[in-house]
Amino acid sequence: MREKRLANVQQLFPSEDGNLQTRQMFMRLIEQILAGVDDLKNPDSVNLKGFKNRTGSFYNDLIRNSAIPAGSVPLEDINAELLQLLHDHPYHTKYFLTNILPMASIPGILGMIVAFMVNGNNLWDVYGPAGAEAEVRVTSMMSKLIGYDSLKSGGYTTWGGQGAIFSGLRIAIAKVVPDALQKGIPDNLYAFCSDAAHYSLYKSMEASGIGSDRLIRVRTNDDSSMNVIDLQQKMEEVIAKGGIPIYIVATTGTTDAMGIDDVEQICMTSERVAVQHGLTRPHIHADSALGGFFAFFNDYDFAANPLELNKDVAQALISIRRKMRHLHKADSLCFDFQKLGQTPYVTSLFLVKDAADLRLVDLHPDETPYVGHRGYGQYHTGYTLECSRMASSISMYSALLAFGIEGYQQLLAQFVEVNLAFRETLRREIPQAEIVNLDNPGIITLFRIYPEGGSGFQTEISGACTLKEIERHNKFNERLFEMLGNHRDRIFFGDTKKHLVVPTKDGQETALYATKIFIISPYTETKHVEEIVQYLKKTVAEVYEKYSEASILSWR
Ligand SMILES: *Cc1c(COP(=O)(O)O)cnc(C)c1O
Repeated sequence: MREKRLANVQQLFPSEDGNLQTRQMFMRLIEQILAGVDDLKNPDSVNLKGFKNRTGSFYNDLIRNSAIPAGSVPLEDINAELLQLLHDHPYHTKYFLTNILPMASIPGILGMIVAFMVNGNNLWDVYGPAGAEAEVRVTSMMSKLIGYDSLKSGGYTTWGGQGAIFSGLRIAIAKVVPDALQKGIPDNLYAFCSDAAHYSLYKSMEASGIGSDRLIRVRTNDDSSMNVIDLQQKMEEVIAKGGIPIYIVATTGTTDAMGIDDVEQICMTSERVAVQHGLTRPHIHADSALGGFFAFFNDYDFAANPLELNKDVAQALISIRRKMRHLHKADSLCFDFQKLGQTPYVTSLFLVKDAADLRLVDLHPDETPYVGHRGYGQYHTGYTLECSRMASSISMYSALLAFGIEGYQQLLAQFVEVNLAFRETLRREIPQAEIVNLDNPGIITLFRIYPEGGSGFQTEISGACTLKEIERHNKFNERLFEMLGNHRDRIFFGDTKKHLVVPTKDGQETALYATKIFIISPYTETKHVEEIVQYLKKTVAEVYEKYSEASILSWR
């Protein structure tokens, strides 16, 4: 009896000896999942098939009805149960246009499976040699791509672009106030990022104990890049009050408008200000979580044009490359493989130009009694905020090999081409829609409806609108978000409530709302654009209809 029970539990694991029977059972279960997902697919919708009402008391009911079973449930039944979770789940069909939420590629998924088969702990190469090897390889590959010296640079996989920003902040603190690691943070440290930066730095300031009040927001230019003159002024104001600027996050590819900060200018300006005041230059982290992947075009020969990119696409990519080419000047940066690297969550790579920076935040051997710092093992990541780490580098490695530079170029160029087609069709079909991130070609289009037409956007950014006028436009656009959001199972658009922060005629500031078209599915092609824009046009007309008497007229 006892042996039988043990055998039952053992059967839940991959075999010890590589026997065929266990492998075939495992393969059947995987086949059941793949077939089950395929059965749910519907290329004419965004969501997988199946009905789920996730509103009302849905989550409360889950809480009430969930408990651990007393005995074991057969794996086939569990698979069926798991597949139920996927019912009505968003899926990356051609109509998936909402945000940077990509599909996981087959090589990306296979890399994860390989990692899971040995379940190594990436903390230490004694426990996770495969992960260590892949991590070193991927760090070197991406360093070379970006223009870091791969013999000097370092890096590790971490918890998201946000984790990379936090890692950069830890290094920034340690560079300026080494004993802050033991004694705590002095109350005069400041960090800077633009109005259009991701909220990751805000959170990092909270979590580090510096406090988000010491995060200084720098104004953006109309193209959503950081205004470097404003950066200089704000650094000087901070210094004049006894503060020390320690960290600047330069966003190279903002999440909404794909604005790209000028890393070179930011480096030069911050260096100059620091030297003038006898301070160390702040640590500069390029938040390239999203945009860094355009480095795949760094060495593309646009003259020979081997991929036969059309002229507009090439032009767009050249303009992105021009803004991105200084990325390697940053002290650290990030590649979110779960974004444009085509791998599953969470696969983010934090890179530092100088691996010695990692030593500033490493643990002392006395503090690591269980692992690392032994005569055996050569790779111990005591500097990461995590202890145990998954070997997500194996998935990155797999994707990098499968796509190669050319595969990534092909995919990104495709996204750019579709995005340009959207812009053209929007302009033709919906004249009230103004594209508000025109300076940033990329893979995102932000547009804003001006119910009364005219050149509303120019007027707004010039500061000639009153707060009330802008709020009125925002309201109209918010209604469009809601209409589109209600039918997101058909076509899934994104939106933002903070495109640009603009001054108002009455001396205030406010943010602009915009609808977002994010090209992220490999299945969205230029031939689908017309249909999608027609759908948008119809929805915009519905917003007009629904609200014309109620509010638009009363606005006047
Ligand atoms: C997505 C994103 C982040 C956050 O990355 P996570 O992987 O979600 O933690 C930070 N910055 C930028 C510019 C991003 O696009």
